[in-house]
Amino acid sequence: MSYLLPILVHIPAHSQVAGPLIYQSESALPPGTLVRVPLGQRELLGVVWDTPVDPVVASLDPGKLRPLAAILDGIAPLASCWRQLVTFTADYYQRSLGEVALAALPPQLRDLSSVQLARRLKRHATTPRHESPPTVIANGVKQSGSRPVSGIGGIEATRNDETGTFVISHSLSTEQVAVTARFDQEAGPFLLFGATGSGKTEVYLQCVERLLASNASAQSLVMVPEINLTPQLEARFRQRFDALYGAHAVVSMHSGMTPAQRLQSWLAADSGAARIVLGTRMAVFASMPQLKLIIVDEEHDPSYKSQEGARYSARDLAVYRGRLENAKVLLGSATPSLESWHHSRPLSEGGRYVRLEMPSRIGSNASLPLVRRVDMNHQPKHCVIAPPLLEAIAQRVARGEQSLVFLNRRGYAPVLRCADCGWKSECPHCSAYRVFHKIDRTLRCHHCGYAERVPRTCPACGNPDIAPMGRGTERLEEHLAELLAAVRRPNSDPELWPEGEPVRIARIDADSTKLKGALEAQLARVHSGEIDVLVGTQMIAKGHDFRRITLVAAIDADSALFSSDFRAPERLFGLLLQATGRAGRDADSSTGSEMWLQTFHPQHPLFEALKRHDYSSFAAQQLKEREQAAMPPFSFQALLRAEARTQEVAQGFLTAASAGAAELPQSQQVTRYPAVPLSIQRVANVERAQMLIESPSRAALQRFLHAWQAVLHHTRQQPDGKGLIRWALDVDPLTI
Ligand SMILES: [Zn+2]
Ligand SMILES: [Zn+2]
Repeated sequence: MSYLLPILVHIPAHSQVAGPLIYQSESALPPGTLVRVPLGQRELLGVVWDTPVDPVVASLDPGKLRPLAAILDGIAPLASCWRQLVTFTADYYQRSLGEVALAALPPQLRDLSSVQLARRLKRHATTPRHESPPTVIANGVKQSGSRPVSGIGGIEATRNDETGTFVISHSLSTEQVAVTARFDQEAGPFLLFGATGSGKTEVYLQCVERLLASNASAQSLVMVPEINLTPQLEARFRQRFDALYGAHAVVSMHSGMTPAQRLQSWLAADSGAARIVLGTRMAVFASMPQLKLIIVDEEHDPSYKSQEGARYSARDLAVYRGRLENAKVLLGSATPSLESWHHSRPLSEGGRYVRLEMPSRIGSNASLPLVRRVDMNHQPKHCVIAPPLLEAIAQRVARGEQSLVFLNRRGYAPVLRCADCGWKSECPHCSAYRVFHKIDRTLRCHHCGYAERVPRTCPACGNPDIAPMGRGTERLEEHLAELLAAVRRPNSDPELWPEGEPVRIARIDADSTKLKGALEAQLARVHSGEIDVLVGTQMIAKGHDFRRITLVAAIDADSALFSSDFRAPERLFGLLLQATGRAGRDADSSTGSEMWLQTFHPQHPLFEALKRHDYSSFAAQQLKEREQAAMPPFSFQALLRAEARTQEVAQGFLTAASAGAAELPQSQQVTRYPAVPLSIQRVANVERAQMLIESPSRAALQRFLHAWQAVLHHTRQQPDGKGLIRWALDVDPLTI
C-alpha cells in the first residue's frame, strides 16, 4: 500500500507551481515531517504539508509519481502552528508556500544528505545538557538557610541548600515594577514605550525570568534588529540565565553565524532544549514547540522588514505568531513606529495593543540631554562645523569627556568633480555618483559596488584639478582633526607628551568596520576612554551604549526634512532621538550632556518636538497629517516593482499589469497609481520602476492582490512582459 503525500519543496519564485508536489510514500507520514525528494536530477529537502491525497479524487496515477528518497526521522514533525505561520506568511506577502517554508529552515537542513544529518543529530544529542533545572523564585522573599551565589552579575541571588531553590531579587525602578506588573496581569500584545536609558532590557529580562520560573518547559524568543546588537544582548542574557538553566539554555540565531552553528541553534530550539532564542528577523520562524513569549526590541527598526524574497515584516509576524500560539508579545522602543503607536491608542478609540510607558531614565541624575539648535543661516558661509559647536567639542576634549559627531554619509566625498569641464564621478552602471574614498584612493559605487582607482586627471578633459564635492564621514574625520589640532586632552603621560597630549579622533561606519571584530575593537576603544571624538554614520546611533559621551552633534540634521518619502521625518526623528539617548547614559556625567543640531530650519516642528524629547506630540502631529492624506496606518499599500534592461520595458509591464487589473471585481476598493521610476532608477545596468497600490481596507487590498497574481503571471508571458528581468510585490512597503 502506498500513500500520496503533498510535499513542499523550494522552487524558484514565481514558478506557477505554487503548491505542494505529490510523491509516493510507503507510510502515511504526518504533516510537518521533513523528507528528501527527487526533483529532476536533484534531491531536495521537502516538508510533508498535508494528509495523504486520494488518487481518485485528485485524478492522479500513482504509477507515474516518484517515491520519496528519504525521511529525516531524527527530527520530529514540525508543529501545525509552525505550518500555519508559514501559510499565513506566504498568503499575506504573496509568495509561494515552498519558498517561504524552506527559507524558514536552516540552510544546512537543505544541504546535508540524510546520512550527514543523522550523524549531526547524533552529535547534537550527545552534547551535555543541563541537569533538571533548579526552581527559581524571582523577586521572592529570601529564605532561611540560603547562601549567596557568585557569578550572577549585578543581581543578588541566594540558593537554598535544602530545596535547591534560587531566590533572586533585582532592584527595579518604580516604573519597571509597574510595567512588569501590568505585563503579568494583561494579555497584550504590549508596546513598551520607554525612553532610552529607562531600562527596557531589564524589563525584557524580568519577563523572561518570570516565564521560565513559572513554567519548566516554556520558551521565549527575543528579537533585535541587527546582528551587531546580538553579542551584547546575548552577554546580558547569559549573565542572568546561564547559572540558572545551564549554558545551553540561551542560543542565538542570525545570518552572521556559520551554517553549522545555525543548525545547532535551530535543533536546540526545535527540541525545546533552548529556553531562550535571541535573534534577528529570521528567528521569527524558529520552530519553538513551547513558545510562550516573544519580545521585539527596537520594534520601529526597518531591519525587521525583509527586502528580498518574501518581503515580510518580522515585527508584524511576531504579533501574528503570538496570537496563533497563545504567546505574549512585547514590542519595545523609545521611538515606536507610527503604526505600533497608533495600534496602542486607548482601547476605547479602537486600540489593539496595551501601551506600557517608562518615561524616566534610570539613575539619580539621569536627566535627558539638552537639545541645542544651531541656525546655520547665521554661521560663516560653507562652514562644516559651526564655531559654537566646535568650541563646545574642544571644551569637552579638554575636560576629558567624549563627543559623538554624526553624519549619515560614509566615504570621503559623495562626488568628485572637474572644475573645468564639469565632469562628475558618475557610476557607469547606475544613476548615481560614485563616492570618493580617500583612504584607498578609490571611487566606489554604493549601489552596485563598482570601484576604480581615482583618476589622476579628469577622464573627460585631462585637467589635473579634480576636487571632492560635499562631505562624508571620512572627510569629516579629517576636517575635525585639523580644527582640533591645537586642543589638548588631559595628559595621561607628561613624559611622552611634554607639549600636551593631542586629541584622539576615531570613525565608525560601514567602511571602518568591514573586518570581523573591527566594530567590537573600535567600541572597546571608545568605552575605555581612549577616544575623544567619535565620528560616524547612523550605525553609531543605534543601540550601542556610550556611557561617557556627553555631547552628540548631528552635522546635517536637515537631510530628511523634505524627502519625497513620507516616512523620512519619522526615521529622522527616531534617529535623532536615539542619538540623544547615546549621550550621558552614565548618571554621573549626564547633568551636562547635550545634543547639537545643525539646521537651516531651526523652527521646524520636528526639531521643536525633539527639543522637548517629546515623541508623543511628534507622533500625534505626524499621524494627523497621515490621516488627512489617507496614508498608512490609515491606508494599506503594496508596491509592484519591475526590473528590466530599459525603463520603457519595466514601466510597460507595470502599465499592462494595471490595465489587466481593471476587469477584476476586486479592483473596486483599490487605487492603482501610475508606474514611476525608482528614485535611483538604474542600478548595475538594471532599470527599476514601481507602481503603488493603495486601499483604505487591508482585506480589500489582500483580495485584490490575490486576484491580481494570475494577471501578473499572464502579463509576464505576453509581449508586454518581454525583456522583463523580474517583478515582485512588496506588501506594506517601508520605502516608497
Ligand atoms: Zn574635465
Ligand atoms: Zn553603480
